[in-house]
Amino acid sequence: MNKERLLEKLKLTDVNGKTVRALYTEISKACMSEIMETPQKAPAKTVSYFSVEFLMGRMFFNNLMALGVLDEAREIFEEKGFDLNCFEDVEDAALGNGGLGRLAACYLDSAANLGYPMCGYGIRYKYGLFKQRFEDGRQIEEADDWLKVWGDPWSVRRANEKIDVVFKDMTVTAVPYDMPIYGKRINTLRLFQAEGSPEAEKISEYLYPADDTEEGKLLRIRQEYFFSAAAVGQLVKNFVKKNGRNFDRFPEAHVFQLNDTHAVFAVAEFLRLLTAEYKLTFSHAVEIAKKTFNYTNHTILPEALECWDVKLVEKILPEIAHMLTRLHLHAKREWDMSYPVEDTTEMSIVRGGRFSMANVAVYISGRVNGVAEIHSQILKDRLFAAAYRHAPEKFLNVTNGVTPRRWLMLCNSELADFYDESLGLKWRSDLEELWQLRCTNADNLSRFTAIKAIKKRQLAEYIEKREGIKLLPDAIYVSQVKRLHEYKRQLMTALAILYLYFDLKDGKLPDFTPMVFIFGAKAASGYKRAKAIIKFINDIAELVNGDEEVNAKLQVVFVQNYDVSYAEKIIPGTDVSLQVSTAGFEASGTGNMKFMMNGAVTLGTLDGANIEIVQAAGEENNYIFGATVEEIERIKENYDPSEFVEQNLKIKRVTDALTDGTFEDEGELKEIYSSLFEQTYNSPDYYLVLYDLPKYLEALLLVNKEFQDGERFARKQLVNATRSAYFSSDRAIEEYAEKIWKLK
Ligand SMILES: *Cc1c(COP(=O)(O)O)cnc(C)c1O
Repeated sequence: MNKERLLEKLKLTDVNGKTVRALYTEISKACMSEIMETPQKAPAKTVSYFSVEFLMGRMFFNNLMALGVLDEAREIFEEKGFDLNCFEDVEDAALGNGGLGRLAACYLDSAANLGYPMCGYGIRYKYGLFKQRFEDGRQIEEADDWLKVWGDPWSVRRANEKIDVVFKDMTVTAVPYDMPIYGKRINTLRLFQAEGSPEAEKISEYLYPADDTEEGKLLRIRQEYFFSAAAVGQLVKNFVKKNGRNFDRFPEAHVFQLNDTHAVFAVAEFLRLLTAEYKLTFSHAVEIAKKTFNYTNHTILPEALECWDVKLVEKILPEIAHMLTRLHLHAKREWDMSYPVEDTTEMSIVRGGRFSMANVAVYISGRVNGVAEIHSQILKDRLFAAAYRHAPEKFLNVTNGVTPRRWLMLCNSELADFYDESLGLKWRSDLEELWQLRCTNADNLSRFTAIKAIKKRQLAEYIEKREGIKLLPDAIYVSQVKRLHEYKRQLMTALAILYLYFDLKDGKLPDFTPMVFIFGAKAASGYKRAKAIIKFINDIAELVNGDEEVNAKLQVVFVQNYDVSYAEKIIPGTDVSLQVSTAGFEASGTGNMKFMMNGAVTLGTLDGANIEIVQAAGEENNYIFGATVEEIERIKENYDPSEFVEQNLKIKRVTDALTDGTFEDEGELKEIYSSLFEQTYNSPDYYLVLYDLPKYLEALLLVNKEFQDGERFARKQLVNATRSAYFSSDRAIEEYAEKIWKLK
C-alpha cells in the first residue's frame, strides 16, 4: 500500500459540483485501488470461516483508519470545505442479526491485523436486517435496501469465479463479491449472490426469511446449502488444480470453521464432492473431513438448534440427504461397538426423522468450542454431554472477543489519544499494555472523566438529532442495547424503571442521582412477545419523560434502528452497561466487552463472559446480582411467580401496573402479563424476571449511590477499560490459530 500516493490522490479529488454520494464512491474507490494493488503472498494454510451472517457495519471510516489515512483525509477534505462526517449517512452493511454476525466481522478484522490468512464465506443479501422505526411505540419494519443509495464500493464482483450450485429443481449461479479486509495481511470476505431465474435470485434476497411454513423452511435450506456448496466447490476445485487429487494433503492447506450450524451442509457437500466427483471411498472422505472441519456453538436455546426434516432436504437436495444419512450410519457403526444406546441416541445425526445439524457438526469436527467459560462448560455438561464423554479431547473454550480497532480506536479516538499520550503507541498492537496505566493517579482519572463527559455529550447530541429527545446532561447513562429477547430480560429493566418511577413519585428516593436509561433493540419480525416488550418500554418512556415531577431525575429513551453505527455512538457514551440475562442463557455476549473496553462498569448477572469480565476487572469494580446457574436449578423446582409477588408487595405494585389502567392496553400488556403469570409456550416467568427483580433494584440503587462519588466511580470505569485486553478479538484469534487451526 502506497500511502503517499493515496494521499496525493485524495488531495487531487475535486469536491466541487459533486454529490455526497459521488464523492463517497470516488474516495472509496481510490482506497480500494490502492488495496487491490498491494501484493499478497500465497499462504501455506488458509482458514475458511463459514457464517450466514457478517455484520460489518460501515466500512468507510474503518478502512481509512486501517490504511492509516483517516485523520489526514479529514484535514484534506476540510480544507476543501467538505466534512467527511457526511458519510455517517452511509448505510451500514447489516448482513447479520446481532452478536454472531458481529463476531464474524471482528474475527475477520483481527485475523487480517495479526497476519493470519482467513477468508470469510457468506451470502450477499440484497436486503440486510430490516430497518426499524417506531409508530405509537410499536416497531415498524422496512426492507433494508442497503445498496440502493450508496452502492457497495468496498466490494468487487468476481464474475469470472462464479460457480453453479445445483438443486434438484433448479441450478443457481453463485457470483462472488469480494471485500478486502485490510491489515497486516489483506484477507477477503467473499459473499455469494444468487443469480439465474427469479426463483434462484430469491435465495440471496433476505436474511433469515420466515421459516414457519414449508416453503420458508425450504428457502432457508437453499440459502444454507447455496453458500456452503459454492465455497466448498471453489476451495476443492482450486485445491485439485494445485495439488491434484492428493486429498490427504487437504487438511494441511485448509481448515474450515463453522460459525454455528448454518453452514453444516458444507460437510455434506464436501463428502459428496470427494466421493462422487473424485471417487474417494466414503470412509476416506469422512477421515479427511474430520481433519478439516471445526465447529463453534453459539447457543443452547432449543429453538435455535437447527434440525431439518429428512424429507424436506430430500425434496431439493437428494444427494445431500443421502450423504447425511450415510454419515449417520457411518457414525452409528463407529459408536455401536462400545457406546451405551442412550449416548448414541443423543449423538445421533438423524433423530425423529430430522437431521440434527449440531450433531453432524460435533461428529465431524476436530474441535468443538463454546464462546465463554461457562458456556463451554454447559456444552460439556448438558448439550453435548454424551459426545463429551466419548471424545473429551474435542471440546474446548475460546471466549469471544471484539476488535479494539472499531470498538475503541475508531469509536473513541479521544480515549485512544489519551492512551497514546500516557503510554506510547505500543498498546495499539498489544492491549495488555493498558495494564500499565495507573488508575489511582488523579491526573489520569480527571483526564478519563473529561473524556467520558465528551463522549456522553456527543451521544446526547446524536440522540437528539436522531430521536428528537434531549438527554439529561448530568445523569448516569445506563444502556441496554442488544437484540430483543426474553432471556436478555429487557422486561426486567422496564419493570425496574417503573419501580423507580413510583418511588420517585412517592418521594421515597430523596438522594437519587438522575439516571437515563437507553435502550436499543430490534425484535425478530415474528416474535410477538418481544414486540410487546418494545411497546411497553416505549409506554414507560412516555409516562416517565412526560411527568414533570420526575423527569429531571429519570429519563427513558428507546432509540430506533439500533445497529453497528449506533452502537459506536452509544457504547463510549455509557456509564453503566446492563448485561442482565438469566444465568445460563447468554452464551458469551460481546456487547458487554465493547462497553468494558470503553470504560463502562457492568451491572449484570453471572452469565456468559460477564463472569470473565468481572474476574479481569474485579467484582468490586462492577455490580453483580441475581441467581446463578446452580441456584436456578433449585429455584425452578418450586417457583410460583404469583406467590412470589404476593410476598414481595413492592414488586406487586409494578406488575399490577400491567393491568390496573396505568397504561392503555391493546394486547401487548396482556401478552407480557401472561408470560409472567401463566403457562404459555414456557412456564410462568420462565426467565425469572420477577425472581431477580428485587436484587436488580438493589444493584441499580447501589450504582446510583456510588456514582455520587465521582472519582471513585471513574476509577472503577477506568479499571474496566484498562483490563479489557483479554476481550480483544486479537486474543481470541490467537487462540483459534494455535489450538484449533494449527497455524502456529
Ligand atoms: C455487539 C453487537 C451485538 C451483540 O450484543 P450482545 O449484547 O452481546 O447481545 C448486537 N448488535 C450489534 C449492532 C452489535 O454491535
